[in-house]
Amino acid sequence: MYTDETLSCVDCNSQFIFSSGEQQFFASKGFQNKPNRCPECRTARKAQRGTAGGGGGGGASYGGAPAGGGARGGGGAREMFQTTCSQCGQTAEVPFQPRGDKPVYCRDCFASKSSSYR
Ligand SMILES: [Zn+2]
Ligand SMILES: [Zn+2]
Repeated sequence: MYTDETLSCVDCNSQFIFSSGEQQFFASKGFQNKPNRCPECRTARKAQRGTAGGGGGGGASYGGAPAGGGARGGGGAREMFQTTCSQCGQTAEVPFQPRGDKPVYCRDCFASKSSSYR
């Protein structure tokens, strides 16, 4: 098994313990090399790189998953035209330009008409 090892830091030349736990961790990660730097120098280097990269990790992947899907953003919003229902006289919204030569029905009348057609 692993035993604590004393290594010397290449940066500050101080000795530090490469503990059995760390050795195990390194082995589990498949690292072949022992750490060259003491923990202080390692964190110092990390901190240096960290400030350059900015905040890092955390919120970067906040893409915002589309919850509803399809309805919006799927290839341009359809333009709706307001007109008057030929049957009930209420305001109706239709997805095409009403031309007047054909009857236009609101959704309710259209549904009842098409259901009564059959
Ligand atoms: Zn050091
Ligand atoms: Zn109607």
